[in-house]
Amino acid sequence: MGVPTTLEERQQLLDEFKQTLPPTVVKDLPEYLLLQCLDGNLWNFNDAKQQLLDTVEWRTKMGVDDLPVATKYNRLPVLMACRGYRHIEDTNFTVQPGISESTIRILNYVGGDCFHKFDKEGHPILIDRTGYHDAKHLGSHVTSEEITNYQVAANEFLNRVIMPEATEKAGQSIHSETIIFDCTHMSLRQFHMSAMYHLKAIADIVQHYYPETLHRLFVVNAPSAFVVMFKVIRPWLNPRTLEKIHVLGSDYQSVLLKYIDPENLPEFLGGQCQCKHMPGGCVPILPQKSSDKFQATADNEKVATVYNTDIMQAALKDKSLSSLLSEDEIKAMVGSSG
Ligand SMILES: [Zn+2]
Repeated sequence: MGVPTTLEERQQLLDEFKQTLPPTVVKDLPEYLLLQCLDGNLWNFNDAKQQLLDTVEWRTKMGVDDLPVATKYNRLPVLMACRGYRHIEDTNFTVQPGISESTIRILNYVGGDCFHKFDKEGHPILIDRTGYHDAKHLGSHVTSEEITNYQVAANEFLNRVIMPEATEKAGQSIHSETIIFDCTHMSLRQFHMSAMYHLKAIADIVQHYYPETLHRLFVVNAPSAFVVMFKVIRPWLNPRTLEKIHVLGSDYQSVLLKYIDPENLPEFLGGQCQCKHMPGGCVPILPQKSSDKFQATADNEKVATVYNTDIMQAALKDKSLSSLLSEDEIKAMVGSSG
């Protein structure tokens, strides 16, 4: 048995793989997760099965399926900027009641993230202002639990709100993203070991429990110091992840344009998009000066979860907060209540 080369082989091996799993796992899990585990383990059934069962156990233990995610239907406060999607309005992060204090603290130290449109193959694009991260404070003022919760919330938002649209738009199953780390403004101050450990915690979660969710990762404007840092990170990443990472210097524009249409790529990365309708344009840089930082109020509870406790609890009872409903379902709900 090896890696299948045709669609028919893929389907046949997937059916065989299902026979080896407990029936409840096959029934409860989406088929794409089975395929991600198979791809991530080069179709070794034993390894794929182990990863799948570990993932189910982890999701149950962490209550991942009941985590709330913001949509334009449930109107929960959003955790990061978005541009160009159907199920969430174009939005920037702002302080709102219901968001936890830890989320606000984290977002004062990261440089700015935005889910920004799709690449040529239909994968959603995440752009990160890596060069503006305040690694020192992120390392010392945020716990690994807090940053992990934020990362899981971001992954679930991507999987439930943006990926269904990507799949529908592309007419085929899409469950991985294209990421751009823009190192513009990066300096040696940012290489802090405590921040590196956070990065390791995130890499561990994503590689273990979100297999094959990375399509391509471009690191652009990478300074030579980044190459040194990358040597520290490399051993934390599995070979399949490493294959997908492209570290590019200042001459990156033509590479990005090979994979992303100019109208979907921000002007500051060599494309034509400016998102003039939004403050901060395509990917707002989060406040750098301490006087401009987001301020938590008494409405922002000091908990390690991304939202306040009442929203976390409400999501346990109300599926419209934790899953993406179709527009027809929303209409039916509105109709029956009114
Ligand atoms: Zn834009």
